[in-house]
This record gives sequence, structure tokens and C-alpha cells, in this order.
Amino acid sequence: MKKERAIIIKDPRLRKARNELRTLLNLWFNDNWSSIQKANPEFSMEVREKSSALRVMFGKSICYCRSCGRSTLDMVYVPSMNEWICVECNSKRVYFTKLKEELLTEMTMMDIEDFLDKLSGGEGIELTRSGSRCNGYEDSKRVLDEMGVNKDAQDKFLELCGYYNGYCDCEILFNAARFLLKQ
Ligand SMILES: [Zn+2]
Ligand SMILES: [Zn+2]
Repeated sequence: MKKERAIIIKDPRLRKARNELRTLLNLWFNDNWSSIQKANPEFSMEVREKSSALRVMFGKSICYCRSCGRSTLDMVYVPSMNEWICVECNSKRVYFTKLKEELLTEMTMMDIEDFLDKLSGGEGIELTRSGSRCNGYEDSKRVLDEMGVNKDAQDKFLELCGYYNGYCDCEILFNAARFLLKQ
């Protein structure tokens, strides 16, 4: 499938039937999974292959949202991810994709790289193996100020960091950085 498409079911009875079907498939998956493991306790190559094939197959199914794990919502197929996610996660994804596009009119990818370098180094939270001096977004804001990034762009940038699980300076480096740098 190449196009994004949403499967929306409005009728409450049909929704219920659909969700029960998803639950059944979930149980089927878990049953198969555990019987493969039980039958082959030594976890041979063959088991590994079977298990991973099963997992890949289930992962591509419409039965649950790959982003939040819920299986009771309408789902949207996202070609760029080659996965189904729920309508709620998809709205968020669309919102933050747009936010990132807007942000990139004010900050370039090189600015973002520069920011991450400064934040992790001596000018920032001095991230080392033994820890860091992280205090919320304090250093992020200071580095962005020093780079001349305006307040509006800073807000967008930090909102985007939050979406990528960067809720403080060190989490930006640990969690958000690789998503921020993804084109
Ligand atoms: Zn979801
Ligand atoms: Zn932190």
C-alpha cells in the first residue's frame, strides 16, 4: 500500500465487533507465540525465525496502534512508516510534522546540529558518563538565545522536543536528538 488511508467505523455495534475481532487476533498471536517458545525451549534458529516472522506479520496488522499500543481506535495506514497507527496518534504526527516544517523555516538542520553540540558540551549541560548538570530546559533556552533563535521558534523547537520525549536538556540529547536530526 502506497497511499495513506484511514479505516473509520462509526456504528458503535460494528466498532464493538471489530474490537472483539482484534482481541481474538491478539489472543491468537499470543497463543502461537507461547506455543512456539514452549515447544522449543532451547530457542533454536528455526524458532527464532518463526517467532520473528510472526512478530513482523502481527506488527504490520491493523490490530493495534504501533505508536500507543491501543487496539480500540480507528486506524490510519502511514506509508512512510509502513505501519498502522490510531487516528489520535496520527493527528499528533500530522501536527508535529507541520510544526517541524515551520521550525525549519527558522532554524536549519545545521543550526539544530550546532545546538545539540553546544548543549552537550562545556557550554551546556556537560554530559559525561557520570551525569550532567541538567535543569529543565534552562541550558537549551540559553543556548538558543545565544544562537539568536527568536522566542517563537524556541517555543516550537521545545514543543517538538517534548513530542520526541525530550522534556529536559538531557532528555533532548538522549531521546529527541536522533528524531530532530532525521530529515
Ligand atoms: Zn495510537
Ligand atoms: Zn534532564
